[in-house]
Amino acid sequence: MKTKTPLTLFWMRRDLRLDDNVGLFYALKENEHVLPLFIFDTSILSSLKPTDSRISFIFKIISELKIELQKMGSDLLVFFGEPREIFKKILSTENIKNLYFNEDYEPAARHRDSEILKLFKDLKSPVKSYKDHLIFAKDEILTDSRNPYLVFTPYKNKWLKQLQSSQLQEHKTEDFYSSLYKVNSPQKMLELQDLGFVKSAIEVPPPQWEGLQRYDQLRDIPFENGTSLVGPHLRFGTLSIRKMVQLARQKNTTWLSELIWREFFSQVLWHHPRVATESFRVEFERVEWRKDLKEFELWKQGLTGFPIVDAGMRELKNTGHMHNRVRMITANFLTKHLLMPWQWGEKYFAEHLLDFELASNNGNWQWCAGTGCDAAPYFRIFNPILQTRKFDPKMEYIQKWIPEYSTFGYPEPILDLDTARKRALIAFAKVKQQMGSNI
Ligand code: FAD
Repeated sequence: MKTKTPLTLFWMRRDLRLDDNVGLFYALKENEHVLPLFIFDTSILSSLKPTDSRISFIFKIISELKIELQKMGSDLLVFFGEPREIFKKILSTENIKNLYFNEDYEPAARHRDSEILKLFKDLKSPVKSYKDHLIFAKDEILTDSRNPYLVFTPYKNKWLKQLQSSQLQEHKTEDFYSSLYKVNSPQKMLELQDLGFVKSAIEVPPPQWEGLQRYDQLRDIPFENGTSLVGPHLRFGTLSIRKMVQLARQKNTTWLSELIWREFFSQVLWHHPRVATESFRVEFERVEWRKDLKEFELWKQGLTGFPIVDAGMRELKNTGHMHNRVRMITANFLTKHLLMPWQWGEKYFAEHLLDFELASNNGNWQWCAGTGCDAAPYFRIFNPILQTRKFDPKMEYIQKWIPEYSTFGYPEPILDLDTARKRALIAFAKVKQQMGSNI
């Protein structure tokens, strides 16, 4: 039965909050009967393990948002299925005036949204989309000759130059809550089991702000709680990026740079979607990577005999988080000392990181492997022993994650660092020679 009232749908995706939500703000401001909805997308969920911690997190947030909206007399409609099919059904059964959502810049999401757009176009229902997830998106930051940036520092300088306070202004959705559609009999929330998932033992930790003032001094020490842990919150939009940038401007400019790295990698993926599957510098597709499943398994399980690498891999497996410095060390170890494809490591991180974000994960993996734009040069090979001396000198981080360290139970190193380093240099230099280029 069609509702008599023409409804405005607001589709939540990676913006799981009501406050300072750009798309929701305009939906409420410009319409009278706004009904938010969320879809647990089977095409994404089907590739995940039933214990996936990200799904437990999203499920909790969605349940909370539903309650919050129900308290205001409205609802958050929650669906489980394929978005196109769900919208088709809604459009055929309800009286839909229009659809609002915030943009998602990942290649698969762009494809999905273009399909939904067609569906609404056929029915002559307008669709409006907004930038919410980033400060600058798509091609908003370009060189003076209108090309995308490939190097971070000039990108960052342009980003800072273009930033205006108005871009950080809060979108006060609460001023327009009266436009939420009043629902007489609210929909019952699904159970996590209905989606084929069980509650994960790993939870998304709350952000920590204590260390922010000293972020520039603490951020490289994995044992310190010196980073913010906002990663998953920015990924799923439980925090607004505009509020984070405002905070960064007050508290620490080094932290602001990190938020800009996130935007840098997003625009790399936007302009070069091929990086999702291949090296940004295509010549490195020729590297003769080793594909040793046994050694790859030892890396995944944190059993390489290199304590800083193993500690990081165990932190990841146990918490869904790994400190940035250690992400760099473990990624460098996999792609250089073990000479294995960066795509393997990228995929494993994607399965486990609570803050997994295609653009950032891909960009950083390619940075570490030396295959990306503005990447560490291929001959920069982190020595895990020297990295430990510098960033975990008392081995506090290592002992935290490897309780059996300094017992006979801890394995011997699986390789000789010097030999492995030379092997990597030869493999990369071979490509350089083949191409005859200055890479
Ligand atoms: P903070 O240090 O407090 O930084 C604040 C925020 O800035 C982060 O939450 C993140 O949104 C952004 N940020 C910080 N560093 C980077 C960076 N190098 N690149 C892009 N954004 C950054 N970050 C992700 O968000 N998702 C990923 O999937 C991801 N994969 C990575 C894979 C590898 C191999 C490496 C080396 C880094 C990866 N990073 C990724 C970047 C970085 O490690 C994490 O953002 C950071 O550790 C998250 O912790 P935090 O929230 O406490 O960050």
